[in-house]
Amino acid sequence: MKINREKIMGELEVAQLGNNILRCQAQPVNNILHKKLQQIIDNLIVTVIATNGVGIAAPQVSINDRLFIIASRPNLRYPKAPKMDPKAIINPRLISHSEDRVKGWEGCLSVPGIRGLVPRYRVINVEYTNREGKLERQELTDFVARIFQHEYDHLEGLVFLDRVESTTDLMTEDEYQKQIIQLRN
Ligand code: ZN
Repeated sequence: MKINREKIMGELEVAQLGNNILRCQAQPVNNILHKKLQQIIDNLIVTVIATNGVGIAAPQVSINDRLFIIASRPNLRYPKAPKMDPKAIINPRLISHSEDRVKGWEGCLSVPGIRGLVPRYRVINVEYTNREGKLERQELTDFVARIFQHEYDHLEGLVFLDRVESTTDLMTEDEYQKQIIQLRN
C-alpha cells in the first residue's frame, strides 16, 4: 500500500524512524483548553484517519507533548479493529495491569513497511485527562489496551521495535498482508 497522495487539510507530517524526536521523553501538557492545543488534537485526528492508523502520538508529528489519540476502527491496515470515536488522551498514567501479556501484530506510522509481533498487557487500568480537561479513569482490554501501550511508549521515546522479543517476530507489510490478513478473511 503506497501512500502517494496529496495531504488533506490539517494533516501533519509524520516523523519517521531515525528522527530523534521519536526518541525523546515527551513533556506534560498544561494548557489543555487553549485554542492551540485543541487545534493540535484536531489535526492529529485528521492525520490518523488519513493515514489508516488506529492511534497517533504527538511526538510522531514532532510535538513533544504527553498527548496521543486512540482512533480504533476497521481500516485497510487493521481490518479487525473495534470501532470507537477518536479520543484524545492527555498526560496518561498506567495505574495497573494484568499479569498476562499477549503477543499481537503492530505497525507504526513512523515505521512504515514493517510489522512486529509485540507482547502487551491484556488488561490495563489507566488515568488521563480528556480534551475537555476532565480526569478520566478506564479499564482497557485487548486491542484498545494494545493501542494505549503502543502510543504511551511513544511518549517515553520507545517504538514497537524495542518491544519485539526476536527479529524473527518481524515481517514486511506486504508479507503481513499476504499471510495474516488473507488467512483471516
Ligand atoms: Zn507508533
